[in-house]
Amino acid sequence: MNRQSVLDHLKAQKDLLFDIVIIGGGATGLGTALDAASRGYRTLLLEQSDFAKSTSSRSTKLVHGGVRYMAQGDLLLVMEALHERGIMLKNAPHLTFNQEFIIPVYTAWDVFIYTAGLKFYDMMAGSLSMGKSYFINRDKTLARLPLLKQEGLKGGVVYHDGQFDDSRMAVALAASCMDHGGLAANYCRVTGFIKDQEGKISGVKVKDVVSGNDFNVNAKMVVNATGVFADEIARMDNPDARPTIRPSQGVHIVLDKSFLQGDSAIMIPKTEDGRVLFAIPWYDEVVVGTTDTPLDKVSLEPVALDEEIEFILRTAGKYLVRPPVRGDVLCIFAGLRPLAANPANPESTKEVSRRHKITLSSSGLLSIVGGKWTTYRRMAEETIDKGISAGMIDKRKCITSGLQLTTGDPDPSSGRLRIYGGGRTEIERMTDEMPDLGQSLDDRLPYTKAEIIWICRNEMPVNIEDILARRTRALFLNARASADMAPQVAEIMSREFGHEPEWVENQVESYRQLVKNYL
Ligand SMILES: Cc1cc2nc3c(=O)[nH]c(=O)nc-3n(C[C@H](O)[C@H](O)[C@H](O)COP(=O)(O)OP(=O)(O)OC[C@H]3O[C@@H](n4cnc5c(N)ncnc54)[C@H](O)[C@@H]3O)c2cc1C
Repeated sequence: MNRQSVLDHLKAQKDLLFDIVIIGGGATGLGTALDAASRGYRTLLLEQSDFAKSTSSRSTKLVHGGVRYMAQGDLLLVMEALHERGIMLKNAPHLTFNQEFIIPVYTAWDVFIYTAGLKFYDMMAGSLSMGKSYFINRDKTLARLPLLKQEGLKGGVVYHDGQFDDSRMAVALAASCMDHGGLAANYCRVTGFIKDQEGKISGVKVKDVVSGNDFNVNAKMVVNATGVFADEIARMDNPDARPTIRPSQGVHIVLDKSFLQGDSAIMIPKTEDGRVLFAIPWYDEVVVGTTDTPLDKVSLEPVALDEEIEFILRTAGKYLVRPPVRGDVLCIFAGLRPLAANPANPESTKEVSRRHKITLSSSGLLSIVGGKWTTYRRMAEETIDKGISAGMIDKRKCITSGLQLTTGDPDPSSGRLRIYGGGRTEIERMTDEMPDLGQSLDDRLPYTKAEIIWICRNEMPVNIEDILARRTRALFLNARASADMAPQVAEIMSREFGHEPEWVENQVESYRQLVKNYL
C-alpha cells in the first residue's frame, strides 16, 4: 500500500475508465472494493480521511449474529450475520477471536429464557457455531467472573461469539483489494459528480486533502458507501434528495483489565433503559458499552456526552464488585450508527432495523447504507450484484466467501504480531537485526519501534493519528499513553517520510488536542 504511487498512477492515466469507483473507506466501502477488485473489475476506492476513521474503528468489536436482534425477532438478520460471522473468522483468523460471554442471571425465568434463547442462537449458526451455550451455577460463574457482584446471583448462561480488531480489519481489506489489482487512496475527498448529457453519473471530482490538488476520475459505476455521510453524497447528486439516515451515537469506555479479571466477557441483556451492555476483554484491557443516542448532526470526530459516560459507569457498577469511576477510564470513544431512518417514528433508533439498504438513484448513484461490520462481505456482494443487474457493469462471479485476508503468515492464529498478517516476519526480522527496535514505546502499551516503521512502509499512514488510532490501537486502549508515545511516533514517521521538524511539532500538538476527546 503506497498512497503516492496510487496518486501517481491516477495522474499518469487521467483518461482511464474505472469499472467501479467507491466513495468511503469504512467497512462497507472497503468490503465493496475488495469484492469488485477480486472479481477482476477495474476498481478505485476514495476515502476523505483515513481508512476506518469514522464508525468502522469505533464498534463494539463483535463478529456476531446479535443476540439482541434475536430478542427483537429479526431472525433473518441474525441468521445472515451468523453465517457471515463464520466466513469472517475463517478468512481473517489473524484479526478475529473466539470470545466466551456470560449472561449473569438472577431469576429462574431468566435462567430458562436465556438458556433456551442461546441454544436457539447456536442452532441458527449450524455448522458455523463457535461453541455450545449452556447454563453454569453460581460458583462456576464466579470462578470465571471473580469480580461479578454475588448478591442474588443464580448463575450464568455461557455462549460464544466472535471478536475482532475493526480498524485493522479495514486495513487488511484495503491491502487485499490492492493485492487483487484494485486501488485505494486515503485522504481523497469526493467533492462532486461528473454527469453525461443524459444526466447519468460518469465519474467523480476529487480533492487530494494532503496536497490540495483537484482531479477527476471516470467510472462506469459509482458506489456511495459513506455511512452516516451518505445523505451528503446523495445531495451532491440531487440537491432535493430526501434524508435516509438517522444517526445514532454509541459510546464505549475502556477500563483496565483488573476490573474484569479472567477471559470471559459479560453481557447484560437488559439495562435500566432497555439497552444491552457488554464488558469485553480486548487485547489487554476491557471495552464496556454501549449507548444509543439519536443525533441530528454527523461528524468525523463525534464526542461522548457526559450522560452516556455516566450511564455506562453506573450500569457497570451495578454488576462489578469494584464500581469503575471516571478517573479509571483509559479511553472513551464514540461512533455513529448509520441507521436507516424510520419514517413512521423518526425520533426512535432503538427499534430501527440494523439491516442494510441498497438504493439506485435516477442518475445511477448506487448507495449502500446501514448493516453491520459482521455482514460487510454480504453487503458488498449484493451491492456489486445490484450494479450488474442494473446493467452498469458486466457479469462476474463473487469469490469473497473463500478469500483469505491474511497473506504469507504461516501461523496466523497465534502471537501478538499476528495482527500484521505477513508483515509479522518482517517485523521480527527487524527486531532480530536491531534489538533496540523491539522495545515498546511506552510501558503501558505493547507497540514497538519496529511495528511503527513497518506500518509506515506498508500501511499508508499519513499522520500520527493514523498510526496511534487505527494501525495500532494505542489511542483506543490507553489515550494518555498514546499521547506520551506521540513524539516518538512523529519522529519515526518524519524519518521515514522526510518531514521537517516543524511537522513533528504540529503533529504532536494536534494529536494532544485530539486525545482530549477520548478522555
Ligand atoms: C457504537 C457502535 C458499535 C457497533 N458495534 C458493532 C459490532 O460490534 N459488530 C458489528 O458487526 N457492527 C457493529 N457496529 C456497526 C458497524 O460499525 C457499522 O455498520 C460499520 O462500521 C459501518 O461502516 P460504513 O463503511 O458503512 O461507514 P463508515 O465507517 O462511517 O465509513 C464511511 C466512510 O465514508 C467516508 N466519506 C464520507 N464522505 C466522503 C467523501 N465525500 N469522500 C470520500 N469519503 C467520504 C467517511 O470519512 C468514512 O470513513 C457498531 C456501530 C456503532 C456505532
